[in-house]
Amino acid sequence: MIHAPTISGATARPTALEVDLGQLAANYAAIAAHVGPDVKVMPILKANAYGHGLVEVGRLLDGLGAPMVGVAYLEEGLRLREEGVRSPILVLGGIVGEQIPDFLDHDLTLTASSIDKLRAIEDCASVMGKRAKVHLKIDTGMERIGVHWHGAERLLEASLACTHVDVDGIFTHFANADEADLSHARLQLERFEEVCRFYERRSLPTPLRHAANSGATLQLPESHLDLVRPGILFYGASPAPCVAKTIPVRGALRWVTRVVYFKVVAAGSPVSYGSTWSPTTQTRVVTLPVGYGDGYPRALSNRAEVLLRGARHPVVGRVCMDQLMVDLGPAGTGYNGDEVVLLGRQGDLEITVEELAAWAGTIPHEILVAINTRVPRVYRGHE
Ligand SMILES: *Cc1c(COP(=O)(O)O)cnc(C)c1O
Repeated sequence: MIHAPTISGATARPTALEVDLGQLAANYAAIAAHVGPDVKVMPILKANAYGHGLVEVGRLLDGLGAPMVGVAYLEEGLRLREEGVRSPILVLGGIVGEQIPDFLDHDLTLTASSIDKLRAIEDCASVMGKRAKVHLKIDTGMERIGVHWHGAERLLEASLACTHVDVDGIFTHFANADEADLSHARLQLERFEEVCRFYERRSLPTPLRHAANSGATLQLPESHLDLVRPGILFYGASPAPCVAKTIPVRGALRWVTRVVYFKVVAAGSPVSYGSTWSPTTQTRVVTLPVGYGDGYPRALSNRAEVLLRGARHPVVGRVCMDQLMVDLGPAGTGYNGDEVVLLGRQGDLEITVEELAAWAGTIPHEILVAINTRVPRVYRGHE
């Protein structure tokens, strides 16, 4: 499946982001195999599917029969519906009252994060003569959205009194599942399980319980419960250097560009804004038509490496908005038009998103979502 970029992108620009949908399908299968048949997998597609393309990834998962997908915002769910994605969609984020009719009109599952919001959903559904699907959000130690665990029983009680709301799920979110020390995550899990026992005590069926992001999917098997919510792991990366990637997933992106300029730089001649780097001996430097205006972080200045002609070469000087420079060394070869890989594989070599994140002093999530729409996406690898 190859989607032509909307503008004459891939040919008009020598820079592109190649998305391997076959690899994403393989990652989904690897996570499903790891958690086993009793645990559902809900990949998270927020922020343009971590840069991979919301609609294309949504369609892929719909085709694979994913039981549910997760997004952060209403408009992300609406976009998936507009494009014909029929899987259940959970909108994980907080909502304001005016948004509720859109959820109901488009069969999107709401997060009910307080009693007031639950009542607003119930009222709206009753006025519209519809049923609302909700997941209840319990805050067990993140202090973001959700009712605190110690007062959660009131929300669960209130949901039982609703006549137009189906509580399909109940969930919490870990603050520290990406850390080496899992004691806080374990405490959050205990609090959450205690909240969920409400249903057993009343001999009621327990809605789908979920808690695990990528970190917990990898590190805390007891938190898998009924469903896991992998984001970064589905896109092939570990959430943090201390979290071992024990599930065989791989990155699905190749961010490629081409050499547009070659020059020889004399010893002592500084390269780029701020003159932060200059060679100690005469060297060969190429210029690439990509920069922080595309989402290649400026923090990678003098830190990152790229792949060209089967070798790694350093980014030298400051990354500019639309261009950056790479040192090939005194005897390096590189010609105008040569393919350069910023992220992903070239031959046997690979620049991983984990590496880029470490060089930039951030997490892989932020590297992926930063790759903006100026970079045309090219899809391959599935169907
Ligand atoms: C973003 C998000 C996830 C996925 O996080 P990763 O670290 O990318 O796995 C899971 N659950 C919720 C509620 C989220 O907001």
